[in-house]
Amino acid sequence: MLFKEIIGQNELKRQLIQTVSDKRISHAQLFVGSEGSGNLALAIAYAQYICCQNKQDDDSCGHCKSCIKFQKLVHPDLHFAFPVNTTGKIKKDAISDNFIAEWRKLITDFPYLGERTWYEYLGIENKQGNIGKLDAEAIQQKMIFKPFEADYKFMIIWLPERMNATAANKLLKLIEEPPANTLFLLVSKNIDQIIKTILSRTQLIRVPPVDEQSMHDMLSEKYDLSPNETKVLTRLSAGDVLKAIKIHDRHETEQDFFDNFKLMMRLAYEQKFVELLDWAEDMVKLGREQQKGFLYFCQQMIRENFIMNRKMQNIVYATDKEKDFSQKFSQSITPKNVESIYLALNLAMSHIEHNGNQKIIFTDLAIKFTQLIRKI
Ligand SMILES: [Zn+2]
Repeated sequence: MLFKEIIGQNELKRQLIQTVSDKRISHAQLFVGSEGSGNLALAIAYAQYICCQNKQDDDSCGHCKSCIKFQKLVHPDLHFAFPVNTTGKIKKDAISDNFIAEWRKLITDFPYLGERTWYEYLGIENKQGNIGKLDAEAIQQKMIFKPFEADYKFMIIWLPERMNATAANKLLKLIEEPPANTLFLLVSKNIDQIIKTILSRTQLIRVPPVDEQSMHDMLSEKYDLSPNETKVLTRLSAGDVLKAIKIHDRHETEQDFFDNFKLMMRLAYEQKFVELLDWAEDMVKLGREQQKGFLYFCQQMIRENFIMNRKMQNIVYATDKEKDFSQKFSQSITPKNVESIYLALNLAMSHIEHNGNQKIIFTDLAIKFTQLIRKI
């Protein structure tokens, strides 16, 4: 990981580089910041910089033997520990080493990782991951040896707040007085949850939110947005790269939902049955989660348009397109049909949840709408 691959954080990068040139690298450091601040990426880039054989003033060279291994996260002196749990593949005694391939893949693809995303990727989304006794023992063993190739060896512990008390007790002494040339880099998103004895043995590095300019530049490069949309997204992200991506993706999905909703309502109003059957077929292609999301979106649209019909309050629209549509559409959502429409959507949602036949569910819904939308 090069420093320049990390969004913003220029002041912190400068400070970290300074510790290397001043030769005052602390043996246990705790990088604390939101998941989308770049805290994990910074810890890795810092380790790479310390090991780089051809350090530049502001970054690692990216080409030396050490950098090449670091870029793939396979340097023999670079170790990781992170929260895990049992999966279909690892049925008991899960430790970080069981999942190192998945870890390398995710981090090298994109060095901003959310805890949920990690669990989903491992297929343990219903369980909490943790760093347990077995991982602590593995860390102890790895730290016994001298560095193989570099001047230092590194143990990067992602989310030390997921370390249980047994594991923490095993590691206390090691973190307090590590063997020579050993660095512990802990990366946390919630300092309050870290076991106090661990916390007190580390030097704190606060990773601030990404500055607005850097976030803005990243978003305009990554997405095809208007200047105003980029500005709004920058502000909503509050300096968190993962949050910015999430908001953007949700917005995209909602636009798709909106287009689908409009199409269904238009076809229902015009009573175009053949096209409605095609529409239902298309809906089947979405996964169940997407289908539920769509039905939820429909309910939201119905609610907002009913409010508009009754002129109960001013509605804040996500986009101008939605506003234009609703000026007309709201006339079709009245006290005579609003409840039936709502119930029809509820029923469809419940059938989807109970694994009903999706084609029948959406066809049924579309046909109901041909009647309901005209009962004004
Ligand atoms: Zn290098």
